[in-house]
Amino acid sequence: MNYVKVYVEHSALSLNQLFTYSCDKPVEPGCRVIVPFGPRELTGFVASVTDHPDTDRKILPVVRVVDETPLLNEELFELAGWLADQCCASVISVLKTMLPPAMRPASGKQKVVLEDWLYPGTPETDAALTRKQDTFLRSLTLPIQAAKARKQSVSMTRSLLEKGYLTLRQQPKDRDVVHIPEPDSPPELQPFQKQAIDRIQQSDAGMFLLHGVTGSGKTEVFLRLAQDALDQGRQVLFLVPEIGLTPMMTERVMARFQDQIAVYHSYLSPQEKYAQYQRVREGKVKIVVGTRSACFMPFSNLGLILMDEEHDASYKQDSMPRYHTRDVVLHRAAHHGCKAVLASATPSLESYARTLKHVYELVELPERIHKRMPEIQLVDMRTEAVTAGFSRKLLDAIQSRLEKQEQTILLLNRRGYLPVVRCADCQDVRICPDCGIALSYHKKENRLVCHSCERSFRYDPVCPACGSPHAAMVGMGTEKLEETLQQLFPQARIVRMDADSTRKKGAHKALLDEFGQGADILVGTQMVAKGLDFPNVTLVGVLQADNALIRTDYRAAETAYEMLEQASGRSGRGKRPGEVLIQTFDPAHYVLQAVKNHDYQGFFRQEMQYRHLGNYPPYTYMAMVVFSHEKPEKAMDKAQQAAAMFRGQRVLGPVTISMRRQKHRVRLLIRDRDPARLCQAVWQMVHELDHGAVKLDVTMHPLRLED
Ligand code: ADP
Ligand code: ZN
Ligand code: ZN
Repeated sequence: MNYVKVYVEHSALSLNQLFTYSCDKPVEPGCRVIVPFGPRELTGFVASVTDHPDTDRKILPVVRVVDETPLLNEELFELAGWLADQCCASVISVLKTMLPPAMRPASGKQKVVLEDWLYPGTPETDAALTRKQDTFLRSLTLPIQAAKARKQSVSMTRSLLEKGYLTLRQQPKDRDVVHIPEPDSPPELQPFQKQAIDRIQQSDAGMFLLHGVTGSGKTEVFLRLAQDALDQGRQVLFLVPEIGLTPMMTERVMARFQDQIAVYHSYLSPQEKYAQYQRVREGKVKIVVGTRSACFMPFSNLGLILMDEEHDASYKQDSMPRYHTRDVVLHRAAHHGCKAVLASATPSLESYARTLKHVYELVELPERIHKRMPEIQLVDMRTEAVTAGFSRKLLDAIQSRLEKQEQTILLLNRRGYLPVVRCADCQDVRICPDCGIALSYHKKENRLVCHSCERSFRYDPVCPACGSPHAAMVGMGTEKLEETLQQLFPQARIVRMDADSTRKKGAHKALLDEFGQGADILVGTQMVAKGLDFPNVTLVGVLQADNALIRTDYRAAETAYEMLEQASGRSGRGKRPGEVLIQTFDPAHYVLQAVKNHDYQGFFRQEMQYRHLGNYPPYTYMAMVVFSHEKPEKAMDKAQQAAAMFRGQRVLGPVTISMRRQKHRVRLLIRDRDPARLCQAVWQMVHELDHGAVKLDVTMHPLRLED
């Protein structure tokens, strides 16, 4: 009799422990089992198998073993335990995140389409073949889809199966998820690119931060490093932020490496994800290009990890388990003994600070391929003539691009038509009843939308508070920007890219293709700031740049710098010089000055001083806990109990923050200079308080503070 220790599928953090069951069937660690748990049956993951129970409790038998072979290898299983501990999440939640939906612990409903395949069999020695059967067998290139073989001869296929020369296996249907572009020819490397590649290849260090200005040719550096790893017979993981925003990058990697690639991102269906995962597991692909969840791919021989736009917030998952992809990257690189290259034009403060401490080696690409950085002007809106939100300068600049048939990108980081709908008579603002924040008006659907919970409501111009029919039109979102722009420039071809226009699968790519094929102006939210490489864009305009600067979050300045510098980086990437106009009421602001002068180091020094003064990361480590409940006093009460439990840490709060989905929320921030001590203290609090009706959401090292 075997005894197995099992993580059971249960969301309570206090059940994040192993339970022992007996099992009379063969089973290995990493397999799923069905176990009795109280009155129910739950799916569980086997963590270890022994032949003696080390518990005095009554041991129940496993109901059923689900998998014949382990779903996760030893490396990934160890990673799950480590990551759960680091993020203060349950191991089962990490295991679920690591696997494609169809393989998750309780995945009864996620159907995967299977296909019959024929593999070489092991025939009994006396099972002789006729000459015809022998010829038929030799004509097959195994493995082959059973349907194909049967098409040639049903009876032969059947006989060969009966005699054991062929065996039948079911495999997930491997649908083509990608279209492979024409192969490219690698350009001659520029001197700085060559130096960067040599440095990375020759250094003894394992972790690198590639700081290259926008348009400095980082992609070519990635592709050469990847080629080198492939030449050594090893695999490559290539991480990109949100794949919808970076179809260009995927295309470039595929143009170089063709069909040796698996693509893994959130727009794939469960079937497609499963197929891609299996291709990696069976060693059929050499490179995986993917977003956050691709960092868990079942590699066996990883030779290089590339993480593009390492500063991007989408690398942090914002639901349980709240992990950061970078931490997984570093852990796996250490396991496989391979190098990891983090890259950005605007590195996160954490990463850049680590280069100063020599945790990462800094490698720089200080120049653009076409040498010139775009010229940046801060347009002072206090003194400018303004029409419908546009300064005269910006309107003239757009007009001249239309005349020269060059392209323009306009950034307004607010979607919808109107950000706020206010009654002109009683000043009442329409708010989301679940979240307590202002609703935005979306004209096309004629609805009010909550940008926090996405709930939407029919729009009625009559004020619900006083009955007045006059609604005030305040502010502007991308939808209105597009409309206004079309009125100002009736002949212009305009493409809009924001969360509303890109909801459908493939919409990103379609919009980018439309812009690439000759539209004049691309307007959008921060999506248009990221990763786009259109050489004909010579003007970038930013409207309401100040919105990004006045947020109260301690990271507001960093996020604003990133967005503005990245947006500027879209201008003048080709042979023609680029221009950037940033509209602001506060041109002296240090973030804007740093962007104007392309001065990352200047921004870094100044921002680090503020962080130091405020005792914020990277000078300290932080955890955020949000308590929520229908009754505000219940949430507050629990938060106060929690706050009182921390001894060695500094605690900020509890403070009441906005509601979410009809729950009142209270936030606690905990800080410590020692990350391990912080993690331990938070776990202890969770173990003592995470039961009862108040919900606890823990985020270790939050990138954004809930407010
Ligand atoms: P980054 O990612 O650093 O912003 P990219 O990798 O997109 O920059 O490169 C910017 C542009 O320069 C791209 O259009 C790319 O094709 C081109 N490029 C890169 N390296 C070279 C090279 N060695 N020779 C010519 N063009 C190059
Ligand atoms: Zn009113
Ligand atoms: Zn809401």
